[in-house]
Amino acid sequence: MSILPKSVQKVIDEFGRLPGVGPKSASRMAYHYLRSPNQDATKLANALVEMDESVVNCTKCFNVADQKECNICSSPLRKKDRLCVVEEPLDVVAFENSGVYDGVYFVLGGVISPADGITSEELRFKELKERVVELLSDVDELEIIIATNPSLEGEATASYIYDLFKTLLKEGKLKITRLAMGLPTGADLEYADRLTLKKALEGRRDF
Ligand SMILES: [Zn+2]
Repeated sequence: MSILPKSVQKVIDEFGRLPGVGPKSASRMAYHYLRSPNQDATKLANALVEMDESVVNCTKCFNVADQKECNICSSPLRKKDRLCVVEEPLDVVAFENSGVYDGVYFVLGGVISPADGITSEELRFKELKERVVELLSDVDELEIIIATNPSLEGEATASYIYDLFKTLLKEGKLKITRLAMGLPTGADLEYADRLTLKKALEGRRDF
């Protein structure tokens, strides 16, 4: 049985569920909030609830947004003839922070990973197809840049996307490219620095 008050143990358990946080860090974080003045714990709790209640998925790219259409999709400055397909919202953040891309995005929601029980059904392939058709009605030529991570699952997912658009490719309005592998195998796109992302994007090749 834990010697800690139940409420403290509960907070430690919740922090412990965060990615990259072990039991020790979780305890330290809990004690930080226990000790800190200015109602920091309440502020954190309120911020989390507000995020949970207000954040939606953009209806076009499925990135996290605070309105139906995110700032990127609704911006007239973004080129609509380039669609960068990424795994997670944090990959969009990596590209945006690097400032090397001016097209639009599509967030798949993960990669196909049989080991983790993630099949194509769980990801947004149907929505991707719809978005591509929608964009194609507006532009003469569309480039899909597949920017899944250079992992086994990322590669398998890239192939799946390619197969998805085989028929459309024949019509000649579509081009599919893959980020150059300046990114080391197994690297995570969200942690790539600006130069690496720039090189990966500039060196992209036909799928
Ligand atoms: Zn969007």
